[in-house]
Amino acid sequence: MSGDKVRLNTEWLCDCGGCHVAIVDLHEKILQVVENIEIQKCPVLTDVKDYPEADVGILTGSIRTEHDRHAAEEMRKKCKTIIAFGTCAVYGGLHGAGLAHTSEEIMDYVYKTTPTTKTDFIPDSDITGLEHVVTPIDEVIDVDLYLPGCPPHAHFIFESLSALVEGRTPKAGQDTVCAGCKRTMKKTEVAEIVNSQDGIAEDDVCFLSQGYICLGSVTLDRCLAPCPNHGIMCTGCAGPTMQILSEPNHDIRTEVSERMARLTKIDKDTIISHMEKSAKTHYAYAMATKMIGNKPTFLIQQWIADVEAGK
Ligand code: SF4
Ligand code: SF4
Ligand code: SF4
Repeated sequence: MSGDKVRLNTEWLCDCGGCHVAIVDLHEKILQVVENIEIQKCPVLTDVKDYPEADVGILTGSIRTEHDRHAAEEMRKKCKTIIAFGTCAVYGGLHGAGLAHTSEEIMDYVYKTTPTTKTDFIPDSDITGLEHVVTPIDEVIDVDLYLPGCPPHAHFIFESLSALVEGRTPKAGQDTVCAGCKRTMKKTEVAEIVNSQDGIAEDDVCFLSQGYICLGSVTLDRCLAPCPNHGIMCTGCAGPTMQILSEPNHDIRTEVSERMARLTKIDKDTIISHMEKSAKTHYAYAMATKMIGNKPTFLIQQWIADVEAGK
């Protein structure tokens, strides 16, 4: 502590920057935070290159480069408590899908193929130090607290920071997104899976009952369910529930397919097959973590390879 204030370092690794924006986007509550927290290092607020000794360190993003690995290790050395903040830090995040491709394929796609980013210049791999796959931070350093979410909702950010200042455990339940969703699950005669871009879903009925894949029931609530309450299926951006993480035979596709098959006339195996064929969508946020990747039922690299080979 510095006086009565908690000394805070934050650092971003491989990420989109959204989690750092979420921290400084607490609106008037940021004033309550800065009353009690001394922000020593924060890439969006300070220009501090080294890593001062701190009480709390917030790490956003995952590890994909030598720089990320070095930064995470320095933060661990200098901060008493490390928070893995955001889904990238906790599970690898959206760019974990890179595990289905080599680094060369990714660099070629970005710098030679994609119309909006292609250029004659490809950064030298010695300079970027790009690692082979995305790694969640707790596979490299010890983590004390986890706050998934893409980004986490301001409600959970404020609660976590307040708890740290007050020296108590943050209040964060284990509800699923369904707990905050206003839609009702009901049995229907729906016989086919509907793609998200097709048709207009009814407002008050669960997406699963209407044939749309929604991951709310397999996703931890760190967002207060904005998507299903505004007409959009949950894509699981806050990461899986504790049940899925802790039970080797529980999996996103098996849980969703069982629930959806009970609500509709769609066969469970049809739903499983559909989700495997769109694994990059339905496993997008957590496929890089060993907690998901090491499941006995999990063959995500094979599913993606089959789709890309046109099988
Ligand atoms: S968790 Fe989401 S918002 Fe946060 S850095 Fe990763 S992609 Fe961005
Ligand atoms: S599965 Fe989706 S639509 Fe259905 S209750 Fe859960 S969050 Fe709402
Ligand atoms: S409802 Fe689902 S997709 Fe939307 S913010 Fe929450 S976890 Fe993410």
